[in-house]
Amino acid sequence: MRLARLWYTGKKQTGVIAMLLDSVPRVRLLSGETPLEPALRLGSELGLPLLIKRDDVMSLGMGGNKVRSLEFWLGEAMSQGCDTVLVGGLPQSNLCRLTAAACARLGLDCLVVHNAPEPGAREIPQGNALLNRLMGVRTLYCGAVDEYERARQLRIQAEVLRAQGHRPYIIGDPVTGALGYVAAAFELCSQAERMGAPLRHVFISASAGPTETGLLFGLCLTGGITVHLVSVEYPEDEFYRAAQPIFSALCERLGITPAVQPQNAARFYGGWLGGGYAVPTPGALEAVRLLARTEGVFIETVYNAKVLCALSDMARGGRLPAGETVCFYHTGGAPALFGQAAQFFDGPAL
Ligand SMILES: *Cc1c(COP(=O)(O)O)cnc(C)c1O
Repeated sequence: MRLARLWYTGKKQTGVIAMLLDSVPRVRLLSGETPLEPALRLGSELGLPLLIKRDDVMSLGMGGNKVRSLEFWLGEAMSQGCDTVLVGGLPQSNLCRLTAAACARLGLDCLVVHNAPEPGAREIPQGNALLNRLMGVRTLYCGAVDEYERARQLRIQAEVLRAQGHRPYIIGDPVTGALGYVAAAFELCSQAERMGAPLRHVFISASAGPTETGLLFGLCLTGGITVHLVSVEYPEDEFYRAAQPIFSALCERLGITPAVQPQNAARFYGGWLGGGYAVPTPGALEAVRLLARTEGVFIETVYNAKVLCALSDMARGGRLPAGETVCFYHTGGAPALFGQAAQFFDGPAL
């Protein structure tokens, strides 16, 4: 196994990541790099050089981080000759919406399983649920069960499809999904270098998923950047219990082990989680308004708002090294904001 720290050296490095991912099946769903933009007004309000990595800006299905993972999930599905893609999540899941969109583009059948009660016939869908309905994706509701029961329901549906002669593929293997964010890490470094921005810090949400682990793996390889993981779901020990096996499997799959340990490249913050996953905090709601007011950019309250809240609290409290360039990694999900209006305004919707 190669033990490596691939100091980022421009064009040559893009070649290295291309080589590492060369043998992995992938379908192209992105039309190129997503923008890396200076956030001058927000940066000046917070007193730091600030960039935003815009993974909310993609041509497919209103974009978001899951598109990068879907390039590899659906690459795997197609290389196995699968004809039906299964995915599970809550009705406001960005993953379900983007899987349905990618399947629409690729001409694959898609089955979405929501762990929620079936909505009433007169209930008007909002946010991602609306987009799913407009795509006409086949949807099953398995009641308000937890994610383990939902996963079991997905496996049952896959068996049913197999018995009917279909070749189902269940979305969600975290290692395959993380490959998209290994590639994203190199994309980010390459863009920062071309902009002449000495990027030193990246802030991103931490749940238990492929996104932050893939990014962390990629940034451990390139070196020199601290990854600030802001918890939106789990405490630190639980996060690393999920992330460590993904990280090790990436070493195995790509045949390369970063010289930097994930814990040495990352800092983890549990203090902005508030009441738990998807429970908004006053600071998160304020962060949504802050970004909208200064940059005209929108984030939702489950993931990105808590990250920006942490970033701005730390910047204002002088807890970030003066003058060092910081990137806020926008993972998308803005369509979910349209289902979150009641968090900002109580009273009847307009
Ligand atoms: C799913 C999601 C995340 C988290 O990604 P994981 O890979 O599951 O950790 C972050 N932000 C948004 C907008 C998402 O939809």
